[in-house]
Amino acid sequence: MPDRLPEFRLGSVLSTSFTATLTERRGDPVERIPTPQRLLDWLAVNGLPVGSCTTDEFTLARQLREAIHAAATARASDHPLPPQAVRTINDRTTQGRPAPVLTLDGRREWRLDGVTDALAVIAADAIGILTGEREGRMALCASPTCRAAFFDTSRSRSRRWCEMNTCGNRQKKARFLANQRRTGGDTPAGDA
Ligand SMILES: [Zn+2]
Repeated sequence: MPDRLPEFRLGSVLSTSFTATLTERRGDPVERIPTPQRLLDWLAVNGLPVGSCTTDEFTLARQLREAIHAAATARASDHPLPPQAVRTINDRTTQGRPAPVLTLDGRREWRLDGVTDALAVIAADAIGILTGEREGRMALCASPTCRAAFFDTSRSRSRRWCEMNTCGNRQKKARFLANQRRTGGDTPAGDA
């Protein structure tokens, strides 16, 4: 048995789920798509199944991931969009030809010829959240070792963590332990 590969973080927003294939960016980074095959697995899990991935396509995928991360981080921080990131995102949308198709049970599926088409879908999704076309707010995870950009669609727009059951819980636990150390008692962890 080979070593177990890091699991995927599944979110409801395609492009930030994609940037979350590299986590703990400010700590000990965890690469969740270390190989082209793992990228194919991720695409399949996210409704973008394609058959094969070349080394070049794999490089383009990771470039797109970092471009989306850079652009989303800039957006969340009210900084101008980095031109190189914008170029990369646009290259991916313009070079793919993904076709959305309607299924008989009323879902959308993608007809894709290869990784290029799948990346175009992800890049287009990123444009949707970066332009503010979609309801929500770009934000950065409050965890200092994470700082992932995520798209907050909560009603109050006050989400603090990219994921409650990873970064959120870890922060809560850390605060709880710090409180305990300070007071020597079992002080509650405080608000979420
Ligand atoms: Zn996080």
